[in-house]
Amino acid sequence: MNDTPITLGNFRDEIDERNLERGWFYFQKGWVRKPKEILPGYFEAIVQEVSAYAVSWSMDDEGTFSDDFCTCNENQSSVCRHKAAVLFRIEQDRESQQPKSEHII
Ligand SMILES: [Zn+2]
Repeated sequence: MNDTPITLGNFRDEIDERNLERGWFYFQKGWVRKPKEILPGYFEAIVQEVSAYAVSWSMDDEGTFSDDFCTCNENQSSVCRHKAAVLFRIEQDRESQQPKSEHII
């Protein structure tokens, strides 16, 4: 078993390649709805593919993805394609919230 914590920095390397590719596809299609913070630090998002799946997770300021659950009932100890899609969405949302690097002259 691979128990390396999934973070925004490593998820491309840690997630099964097939799930990662499918997650990227879903994200690119715009099938990941905007994540909602349902409790402090705890989020939920719907991934609408053939059916709708709900992904919930915790994330701290360092971008560690934990307590993750998806309603697809695939092996819950791994990162399914829906969780992968959500990670791409979180990454995009964080990048768009943060100001671009400021150049200090
Ligand atoms: Zn799933």
